Amino acid sequence: MIPQIDKTWTLFLDRDGVINERIIDGYVMDSKDLILTKNVISALQLLKNYFGKMFVVSNQQCIGKGLCNETAINKVHADLNDILLKNKILIQDFLVCPHKASDHCNCRKPKPGLALQAQMKFPSIDFTKSVVVGDMLSDLQFGKTLGMVTVYVGDTDVPNFDLIKENADLMYDNLFEFAKTF
Ligand SMILES: [Mg+2]
Ligand SMILES: [Zn+2]
Repeated sequence: MIPQIDKTWTLFLDRDGVINERIIDGYVMDSKDLILTKNVISALQLLKNYFGKMFVVSNQQCIGKGLCNETAINKVHADLNDILLKNKILIQDFLVCPHKASDHCNCRKPKPGLALQAQMKFPSIDFTKSVVVGDMLSDLQFGKTLGMVTVYVGDTDVPNFDLIKENADLMYDNLFEFAKTF
């Protein structure tokens, strides 16, 4: 069921596979590799009318693995932000976990750290009035842990689809299909 959203609500957006095309077994470490997903600008232009705040929450273990540094990822996000701002879309913050899975940090999704960082900066954020959109089980588990509404966007023919279905409150092909439901 689609909740009644107003400007007191916050939207947490996974990046790879939601905003930009995911690179299978690879990472977007340079803006030239950042390919926006279909209709994502239109999607965000719709969603900004409904949600008070929007954040990007992204696991980027390419940093922890030493494949790139934080500066490179910040540059990708600065370039992405430029594109979004030109389209009058404001993302409050781009929050990144730089750690490897084996580091067992508290900010790699499904752990809740990135959402807690957002709430530190904006204490008015209420996770029970928040929606997370992601293309991985870990995004949905991150949302569930915090009491958010969870939205899966992506294919249904993935190996762990049973678990995805169990953890997703709503499911769509992509962010634009979700945005159109309001
Ligand atoms: Mg993703
Ligand atoms: Zn982390």
